[in-house]
Amino acid sequence: MHSTQKTLLAALAAAAIAAAPAHAQNAAAEPGLPASAAAAVTPLVKLPYTPVLDTRSMDTTVDPCVDFYQYSCGGWQKNNPIPADQSSWDVYAKMAQDNRRVLWGILDKFALQTDGRTVSQQKIGDAFAACMDDRLTQQLGARPMQPELDLIAGMKSKKDLPTVLATLQLNSGDDGLFFSFGSAQDYADSSRVIAFASQGGLGLPDRDYYLKTDAKSKELRDKYVAHVARMFRLMGDSEDDANAHAATVMAMETALAKGSMTLVEQRDPRHLNHPANERRLQSLTPSFDWKTYLAGLGLAGNDRYNVSQPRFFQALDVQLRTRRLDEIKTYLRWHVAHVSAPFLSKPFVDENFEFFRHTLRGVTQVAPLWQRCVVLVDNQLGEALGQEFVKENFSPELKAKTLHMTQQIQAAMESEIRNLDWMGPQTKTKALEKLHGIVNKIGYPDKWRDYSALVIQRDDLLGNVQRGDAFEARRQLAKIGKPVDHSEWGMTPPTVNAYYDAQMNDINFPAGVLQPPLFDAKLDDAPNYGDTGGTIGHELTHGFDDEGRQFDAKGNLKNWWTKKDAAEFDKRTTCLTDQYGKYIVVDDVHINSKLTLGEDLADFGGLVLAIIAWKAEAAAHPAPQSIDGFTPDQRFFIGMAQWACANERPEQLRLQAATNPHSPNVYRVNGLVANFKEFEQAFSCKPGQPMAPVNRCHIW
Ligand SMILES: [Zn+2]
Repeated sequence: MHSTQKTLLAALAAAAIAAAPAHAQNAAAEPGLPASAAAAVTPLVKLPYTPVLDTRSMDTTVDPCVDFYQYSCGGWQKNNPIPADQSSWDVYAKMAQDNRRVLWGILDKFALQTDGRTVSQQKIGDAFAACMDDRLTQQLGARPMQPELDLIAGMKSKKDLPTVLATLQLNSGDDGLFFSFGSAQDYADSSRVIAFASQGGLGLPDRDYYLKTDAKSKELRDKYVAHVARMFRLMGDSEDDANAHAATVMAMETALAKGSMTLVEQRDPRHLNHPANERRLQSLTPSFDWKTYLAGLGLAGNDRYNVSQPRFFQALDVQLRTRRLDEIKTYLRWHVAHVSAPFLSKPFVDENFEFFRHTLRGVTQVAPLWQRCVVLVDNQLGEALGQEFVKENFSPELKAKTLHMTQQIQAAMESEIRNLDWMGPQTKTKALEKLHGIVNKIGYPDKWRDYSALVIQRDDLLGNVQRGDAFEARRQLAKIGKPVDHSEWGMTPPTVNAYYDAQMNDINFPAGVLQPPLFDAKLDDAPNYGDTGGTIGHELTHGFDDEGRQFDAKGNLKNWWTKKDAAEFDKRTTCLTDQYGKYIVVDDVHINSKLTLGEDLADFGGLVLAIIAWKAEAAAHPAPQSIDGFTPDQRFFIGMAQWACANERPEQLRLQAATNPHSPNVYRVNGLVANFKEFEQAFSCKPGQPMAPVNRCHIW
């Protein structure tokens, strides 16, 4: 239930490993240098410094009132071409890459089998060493996944599926195997953790990829089927068999896609709230023996479920009932190969890369091994690694400063709610109650996760990955029936991102995001309040966006709005969906503004709050009249815009248009400032110019 944030990084984290590691080669290489030059990237001991407002990143030949994004980021775009192993490149991605280089240095040190390593240090060091042992990985070829393939081959009838599936799901931590199963807070009672059964089972990024009829979508499907066939070839199937198997996979996944909800439908939590007991679960899928499956997960005796998408499970049942055993085996083999591929020998890594990174995202080069290994350890042992990261890279002063800014932003929201002209007193009381209930989590968890039960071996990469996934899956399942742990974090400390959790009713800022250039204690307040102030306001606003507003102060899915106020809110959000729906992402693809509404609202609210907080701060500590020729108001807005400087490949833009709840960065700046009179005044724009339209949206 984590609403995201300023970027998609975290949302991609899980997929990053399955679909080849996500981010980020530092393109430290000079433009024009061969790729081998980039390989000279080295580990870092300390994070580098970049100012929160960098005039070299601007393009002052552009009129800020015509294209503020270009004005603020034009220089950055020119100076920061997309590295060959990246699908996009932006300020957040660059920071994440710097963080990874610091983590690399840490892991290199603990990978040495020296005395005195703590249990956690030993685990991260050994996990990294196993991943970096490329000679062994190449030598083993496809063998590491053989035990799972044997498990599938050994199925005698469809009756064996529930037990086999439980094992494969635990080992893959992936929702690609027929459906997704885990735990989460009950929508109706957030103090309770229950089991969740949700849609899944697809190889492509979203159900729409299977169902859209335009030429581009058809082309991608053809390429996907060809990729699946090549994976079967790599597993040793004949060409005819491989082609037939790929067709079976496509047919089964398409049937599951048809039963799946769209991303927009899933934005409304009421669509996902379907409490069920085991009998109800069983009645949705008569062909699947849940008792046996649940016993396989170690969950016998539980009787509280939420079935997020009941219609999906009916579609799943049709597949399980009508498909032959060998077709089900084919489907399972494909998904096992798919999740294992990034950790097997080069032919698997390359084939996986070719479709999921090159075709789907436009990336031209596989990321270097060290980077994939850092991402893996961060994913699987994130708090053991994060503990080492914050020792050197997050000071108590930084925490105090951020907390101060957060409190100012919260005060700004309180005054904003009190002064809202369209919200009645009854809703306001509830809104304030919710605001006061929000917990701030800054930097890293108070207590670190204990990984001592997780077995890591220096000569077993895929085994480590599977045990790590199973460790996490079991940890999640073990929460069922227990009180909610409010101290837990959903992101690791080095993550360059932040989130609001509606059911926890908390905002979370990992240490990784509270660093220059996003938060810069060396520079003046104005750009800091525009940038990090805006981010804090953004996360806070998620509690009141179209999705978050449906949860109350305790995190329960409960309507606390009067009818009239809810209607007023909807009327105002329509202005934003109309505005953003007009923007083009790539070619003829528009923003799906019903999908991006929550994020567009959060950007809007974030800027409102940042402006209020910054004015309060500036009144207490007056800013210098001019720095680098810019007024404090101008520096506030340029600082705000420069978090978003980015270059993106067209393939990546297309994928994001289909799946990313955030609008493209250019509109997260230009679409945003166009709604603010304060911007028009700061840059003396003439009413009617692109960044100063006559009609604006007014929400908060
Ligand atoms: Zn967000």
